[in-house]
Amino acid sequence: MTLRGRLTSAFLVVVLGPVLLGAIFVALTVSAVNRDRTTERLDHAATTVSAAVGALCRQLQAAADAVAVVPAENRVAVADQLVARGLATTVDVTVPNQPLLGRAAAHSGNGTTGPLSCADPVPGGTATAFAAYAYADEVTVVAAQGVDPALMERLADAAGVAVAIGVPAPDPGPRTTRQLTAVPGQPLPLTLSVPTGEPTLRYAFLFLIVLVTAAVAVLAARWLARSTTRPLGDLAWAADRVANGDLDTRVPIPRPDELGRLAATFNRMTRELQSYVQALTASRDQLRRHLAILGDTLSSTHDLDRILPVILRTAMTATGARAGLLLLADPSDGRLAARCGAGLTGAWDLTPAELVQRRLPPGLGVLGTVASTGRPMRGTGGQSPDEPVCESYLAVPICAPPADPETDPEPGTLGVLALYDRLGGPAFEDTDLRTLRTFAGQAGVAVHNVRVHEEAQRLSLTDPLTGLWNYRYLREVLRREVERASRFGRMLTVLVLDLDHFKEVNDTYGHTAGDQVLGEFARRIRIGLREVDVAFRQGGEEFVVLLPETDAYGGVIVAERLGAAVRDRPVPVDPRRPGLDDRISISVSIGIAVFPEHGGTAQQVLDAADEALYAAKHAGRDTYRLAERVSRAGAEGHLDAATATTGGPQPPRHGHGR
Ligand code: GH3
Ligand code: MG
Ligand code: MG
Repeated sequence: MTLRGRLTSAFLVVVLGPVLLGAIFVALTVSAVNRDRTTERLDHAATTVSAAVGALCRQLQAAADAVAVVPAENRVAVADQLVARGLATTVDVTVPNQPLLGRAAAHSGNGTTGPLSCADPVPGGTATAFAAYAYADEVTVVAAQGVDPALMERLADAAGVAVAIGVPAPDPGPRTTRQLTAVPGQPLPLTLSVPTGEPTLRYAFLFLIVLVTAAVAVLAARWLARSTTRPLGDLAWAADRVANGDLDTRVPIPRPDELGRLAATFNRMTRELQSYVQALTASRDQLRRHLAILGDTLSSTHDLDRILPVILRTAMTATGARAGLLLLADPSDGRLAARCGAGLTGAWDLTPAELVQRRLPPGLGVLGTVASTGRPMRGTGGQSPDEPVCESYLAVPICAPPADPETDPEPGTLGVLALYDRLGGPAFEDTDLRTLRTFAGQAGVAVHNVRVHEEAQRLSLTDPLTGLWNYRYLREVLRREVERASRFGRMLTVLVLDLDHFKEVNDTYGHTAGDQVLGEFARRIRIGLREVDVAFRQGGEEFVVLLPETDAYGGVIVAERLGAAVRDRPVPVDPRRPGLDDRISISVSIGIAVFPEHGGTAQQVLDAADEALYAAKHAGRDTYRLAERVSRAGAEGHLDAATATTGGPQPPRHGHGR
């Protein structure tokens, strides 16, 4: 049963119940009062009728007496007079053993039987007349009154009820009767009756009132139930929609009553829920974006300087932190080097370039403790003065994944990720710490991967024998340097070096000694260069040196210096056979080419330097040659060293042999 049904029924029971009970009570009361009134009426009628008949009897007696007392000869005349006056219907004067002396009658009865005696009525006697007797001088005077419809009508009029003689025939319709038996003074057996007359009209009126009340009650109950349940129905509908995710739903506020308050509260609750969900969605979207950026960054680059800020930003978004700092341990001295920061204030409000200069000692303060113990920390303020100022902080170690979880369960700490103060919220909680730990675990894997990648990169780009960069890396660096020189309008000089008669060294001293010579040669190249210069082993006993921001003149100077460094000190080796010298004298031939003078692309410059090397070899070795100048067209793509002409002040083209 619905709430509306229950409310309607309850209202109807409460309203209609008393009305019905009242109506029944009134009906019963009316009926009882009615019965009492009928009895009263009959009582009154009986008294009236008895009195009337009694009066008639006394009148008859007076008439009979009057006739009896007059002289015998006047009796008949008096009797006639009395009848004429209507004091009796008949007056008979009889003498025993004689015929009737005289009879005065206005209306004669049927005369078959005698009239009922007023003084001594016979029960069950015929009731056509009643009479009073008087006696004088053996004369009997009988004054009789006929029982006719006129008399009955008079009695009925006087009593106000229907009056019938004897037991009346059953009358259609219920009647209440009263039998009057013949008694002295009232000789007639009479039946008084009134219609049992229930007050039908009143009942009908009562019924109508009940009916109208019921109709009004039903309408009122329906209205009440509707006005109560409709707002509840609206609320249920709205709650259902909200449950299905439609947070725009609002309910109308019906009246400022309890239901109105409920509706207003519901609307407010939904509004707050909506803004809460919007804020959550926004922060989730932001986090998603950061995670997407993080994923992209991790998969697209192995550059820590790009990865670390994204890691820091994502961690800040995930925990709602105001500021953050990421430090990596310096493997050389274990100190914590700041790598990136965001939102920092005070002494830590630094440019990225300044920030990376900051170093913190291990084991001190919150950051140092986290780094040295490898345990995360959470707290409110009170760190060492070297660290960023904050109200609350979270600091977790960035750990490398264990190489083998069984033998090496304690991974090394690579650095520390610290977050400071939550934006517009209370201090950090343990859940934030857990989030950050999970996140730092991923960051540790990323940093570790970058380190591994860097190492692999270094190994794949260096030559194991000499420790110089290899040919692969040469191509990349040369391309990069040419691009840079081209962009900034600078020059770049390339030297190609080839040991002279190296095959003989191998043949005479063996391959191992040859390797020693190569190693020593590489070392001498390295120490003979500036920090910005880069040396490569191109393959075999051929080497390349890149001299950024250097013109042909500078290139020649370096070539001369390297030539001398090789030539001047023979390389000590283990002699394979007795009798052989334990020092090997070697020399090198060098080709020099300059960007953009001798080539417009990396390959062209390298080719030009190769050509110059060939020229140096051709010129007898242990010397250098500068590439021929190329034409403008050549600079744009075609190398033509042989036909190039030189002009203007030029550095020496030819190196000096020994
Ligand atoms: P030149 O350059 O003066 O014309 O004469 P060369 O003897 O150096 O001639 P070439 O360039 O043809 O010979 C290169 C030799 O270098 C051949 C090879 O035996 C030797 N070589 C190449 N790579 C290595 C190496 O890694 N170790 C050793 N020991 N020898 C190498
Ligand atoms: Mg060679
Ligand atoms: Mg050679």
